Amino acid sequence: MSTMTVKRAELKPGEVLCSYCTARCCRYFALPIETPETWEDYDHMRWYVMHGSCAIFVDEDVWFLMVYGDCKYLLEDYRCGNYEDRPQICRTYTTDECEYDNDGTYDRLFETPEQIWEYAHAVLPPKKKKKKKKSATEVSHQKLPIVHI
Ligand code: SF4
Ligand code: SF4
Repeated sequence: MSTMTVKRAELKPGEVLCSYCTARCCRYFALPIETPETWEDYDHMRWYVMHGSCAIFVDEDVWFLMVYGDCKYLLEDYRCGNYEDRPQICRTYTTDECEYDNDGTYDRLFETPEQIWEYAHAVLPPKKKKKKKKSATEVSHQKLPIVHI
């Protein structure tokens, strides 16, 4: 890999963009998730990011869970160490719209549980208060039903 940075438009004939990249596409994966609509949904997402090494982003109204982690086959020189047997998704991926020059900005990005919770408070109706459980004393002071014999 060259240490030189080059813009896409500056590539010379026969050159491959990946030769100038630190394999950004081999260092994470992202899966679409359902659009959160309830407090419970946001609570689940809060739980995801509590595990670290992941984030949630929104791109064109689609929500994604992004998990950071280098592929186990990524070599120190940023080439694939499993080229002949790499998964189909790696084979069909092209440099056409890859993240080589992606600036890492999204419509929305949540990296901490606090950010998700703050967003949930901004977009959801207030949480319904749970009915307070009666204490044992309160229960014992309740009038017993009268049974007419
Ligand atoms: S496809 Fe794009 S992001 Fe992946 S290694 Fe090549 S230039 Fe980098
Ligand atoms: S298998 Fe190779 S191309 Fe695919 S993610 Fe791993 S290192 Fe990258």
